[in-house]
Amino acid sequence: MNINVPEIFAENVFSDAVMKDRLPKNVYKTLMKTIQNGRQLDMTTADFIANTMKEWALEKGATHYTHWFQPLTGSTAEKHDSFIAPATRGTAIMEFSGKSLVKGEPDASSFPSGGLRQTSSARGYTAWDPTSYCFVKEGSLYIPTVFLSYTGETLDKKTPLLRSMDALSSSAVEFLKLFGNDNVSRVTSTVGAEQEYFLIDKDMYDKRTDLILTGRTLFGAKPPKGQELDDQYFANLRPRIASYMADLDEELWKLGIYSKTKHNEVAPAQHEMAPIFTTSNLGTDQNELAMEVMEKVALKHNLICLLHEKPFEGVNGSGKHNNWSMSTDDGQNLLDPGDTPMENLQFLTILCALIKGIDEYADLMRISASSAGNDHRLGADEAPPAIVSMFLGEELDAVLKAIEEDTVYKTQTQAFEIGVNALPSFPKDSTDRNRTSPFAFTGNRFEFRMVGSSDNIACPNALLNTIVAEELSEFTEILKPFKNTDKFESEVKNLMKNVLKEHRRIIFNGDGYSLEWIQEAERRGLPNYPSTVDAIPHYTDEKNLRIFKKFGIYTENELKARTEVLLEKYSKTLRIEARTMIQMARKQLLPATLEYIRTLCDTIAVKNQIGISAVVESKTVKKLNDLAEAFYESIENLEQLVNDACEIKEVLVQARFFREKVLSEMERMRTTSDTIERIMPSDKWPVPDYSAMIYNV
Ligand code: ADP
Ligand code: MG
Repeated sequence: MNINVPEIFAENVFSDAVMKDRLPKNVYKTLMKTIQNGRQLDMTTADFIANTMKEWALEKGATHYTHWFQPLTGSTAEKHDSFIAPATRGTAIMEFSGKSLVKGEPDASSFPSGGLRQTSSARGYTAWDPTSYCFVKEGSLYIPTVFLSYTGETLDKKTPLLRSMDALSSSAVEFLKLFGNDNVSRVTSTVGAEQEYFLIDKDMYDKRTDLILTGRTLFGAKPPKGQELDDQYFANLRPRIASYMADLDEELWKLGIYSKTKHNEVAPAQHEMAPIFTTSNLGTDQNELAMEVMEKVALKHNLICLLHEKPFEGVNGSGKHNNWSMSTDDGQNLLDPGDTPMENLQFLTILCALIKGIDEYADLMRISASSAGNDHRLGADEAPPAIVSMFLGEELDAVLKAIEEDTVYKTQTQAFEIGVNALPSFPKDSTDRNRTSPFAFTGNRFEFRMVGSSDNIACPNALLNTIVAEELSEFTEILKPFKNTDKFESEVKNLMKNVLKEHRRIIFNGDGYSLEWIQEAERRGLPNYPSTVDAIPHYTDEKNLRIFKKFGIYTENELKARTEVLLEKYSKTLRIEARTMIQMARKQLLPATLEYIRTLCDTIAVKNQIGISAVVESKTVKKLNDLAEAFYESIENLEQLVNDACEIKEVLVQARFFREKVLSEMERMRTTSDTIERIMPSDKWPVPDYSAMIYNV
């Protein structure tokens, strides 16, 4: 199979190139202005674009169009309308107006809104987001949109992200002027989301109700071999996986996604796909799309792609490393240290803004990665811990120390005075870099590693942008009086010094998994929220509300609504998991155990009759019978606890009850079942075991 990548790349995207090619110059120009300045499109222009878009989509085989949006459910939503319109004598024509492009009115009453939208006034509307690209997929033209209530409250994940990008841009443009960047008029946040996933055989999956209903295994004894030999990471690709990945690349490329890197991950059956970074808003859409394509392509290979954060106990879970930076419209990457003393100074100041921001709003970063699924990663025995800290690397740390202590930064051969000499370039991506840090500097960007593999990246990026917007605007306030004076540099250094003194505690270059770090972090006063339920209530803390309001990201109502939706989702997830466990236990696992006990008892009876020893059978029966009793009791307990939980009206109290009571009973029940599984013969256990699932592809 020979594919011409440049030829197929973005063939299904109404890309910039297509627009430039097909739209009249003035229409194209108006559209670009709209995109850059967020202005409203006039209807004539919209009509023109819609018609061109339709013609193009028809050529690509589309018959329908859909407003594609990202509600608070966590997945994407779409409703398809055909282009069809009646014409004379019962014939049909294909039509698409500017109005239909720009605005849609899905019946929105079933999407979560956290009480923002009473069902009596259930109307919400979708509005075209021209900063992202339309594309054709499976016979429909997809139009990326934002989703709002008629009173203007946000009901989706994209709107806050777009607002945060604007806020960051305004703050950063002002800030950069202090450093003589008078030509910068727009700063855009960028993201490259490395996506981890598991692949397992579909036949196995189909036999596991837990995977089907919850995306993770709720039972399952650990296999004799896990990931301890480290023989999976970057291992050569088995043929079935390689063929899946080749197919995936092709599909992603056609949709304009720059899929770049693919490899096996640490856990058996775990893999990764990383695209080349792009703007946060396009990156978010593309990540949502990539996840969907990953699942669909898997089916063609009789595989299932699991995006859950923790499909299997005992081996690593999956995350989504959110690589983040900022680019200016004159081509600077603001997290690149640069080559001149002034560029260095600007970079170091921005770095200090991040240090201060991440320290002051560590809770928001934690919240942005909170979900029931991700609780099994963060704060459990794996990467990264639930405590937010920052890793800068040795060299950079030494530079900051020199600033803080008013000394000169020295390498083995040279000394550098900040603002006077140019710093040596810092190693990018050195292989020894710290992989246990939740927020690590990697040479020209930060890698936020807490995000869960199934999560929408809009939220983490929106919060990060808002935090940085706040710090940069604060820095600008402080430094503005000294702009273009000979005091500027010393004031910058002063500011950095103060920030470092106060916020150094967020920097941690050691092992983030260690127990010592948890104790050390506590001494430093860093927040540690081990679970979603501990983290989410801090969303509406006064200091957080303040910056969301200041930059128009969320109103108090919107924020409260989101808090409620997140907590409700947490409780619902656990309720489904608990009920799935009860069902599997009652209908499959316990009956199989009892059946085996019966078989053994029959054998014992026969052996007794003919007078030969049945010691093995008797011992096994005794063991299994005790376990079966405990199992039965656990089922009854869990059922009672879930019923009790459902009676609780207050969302936070309910979520806490699920976390504290229901989850621990689920864990107890699993331990019992896994012990039984280890004793039972393979052919008597009614569901595929771990070895079969993770070593079979
Ligand atoms: P690693 O596994 O070593 O972390 P990868 O190559 O898998 O590295 O992923 C690095 C990711 O960081 C890629 O998605 C890449 O495009 C992204 N990236 C690089 N530069 C930037 C930047 N300036 N802004 C955002 N993301 C970036
Ligand atoms: Mg990585």
